[in-house]
Amino acid sequence: MSGSVIIVGLGPGALELVTPRVSTAIANATDLVGYETYLKRLPTLNANQTIHASANGVELDRARHALEMACKEGRKVVIVSGGDPGVFAMAAAVFEAIEHGPRGWRHLDVRVEPGITAMLAAAAQLGAPLGGDFCAISLSDNLKSWHTIERRLEAAAQADFTIALYNPASKARPNQIKKAFDLLSRHKSHDTVVALVRAAGTNQSKALITTLGSVDFTQIDMRTLVLIGASTTRLIDRDGKDPWVYTPRSQRGFE
Ligand code: SAH
Repeated sequence: MSGSVIIVGLGPGALELVTPRVSTAIANATDLVGYETYLKRLPTLNANQTIHASANGVELDRARHALEMACKEGRKVVIVSGGDPGVFAMAAAVFEAIEHGPRGWRHLDVRVEPGITAMLAAAAQLGAPLGGDFCAISLSDNLKSWHTIERRLEAAAQADFTIALYNPASKARPNQIKKAFDLLSRHKSHDTVVALVRAAGTNQSKALITTLGSVDFTQIDMRTLVLIGASTTRLIDRDGKDPWVYTPRSQRGFE
């Protein structure tokens, strides 16, 4: 009896954005492991499936628990993440646990099933803001120093990437987003297009289009994806509707 660990991404929220491969993995699991908020999004499970909910911030413990159940008890474990499991989420925690764990874990059947990450769901809602080069930065300093975050923001601004900011604010970190914008403003024009997309890819979604110089920080919380345009990111006005946001693929302008 050999177990498995599949790390799946549930996408940004809507059921239709969960891939069929993720749904199959969930249906075939004996055990489902994850942060309680994501486990609540699962479809109805059958009576033989066990749920192991844990709090946020205990990713490595959760990964070790899943690996142990698969290795010692032959369970078919699915670990759930929001969005994509490889983007600021559980997949890296599982591989970190394997690298530093017992040798036997390397022989387990471990797989990652992708999901639609917040940045892509938000971009699709706005138009095509990621049409040029872009990068993603998590503003959370739980796992890296604030100094590192500042250096990366600065480099991204200097390189003129479109920047997707994950984890922009939380109750414990309400002010870092303002610090990040102050820093970006030193390198980018105040007119730079900024979009705040809350609950992207769900039917409660809300997109606010603004500029680097006039962001209302009270509109940003832990369910918000912040997109900061490149210098070429632009708007297409539509009477009575939100403009489309896009970044042309060519730097040469319209030909
Ligand atoms: N693995 C996830 C990201 C986890 S980090 C993914 O691939 O999407 C958590 C951060 O992701 C949140 O603070 C928020 O910035 C962003 N996020 C997750 N789901 C979101 C959604 N539906 N809409 C907007 N942002 C979202």
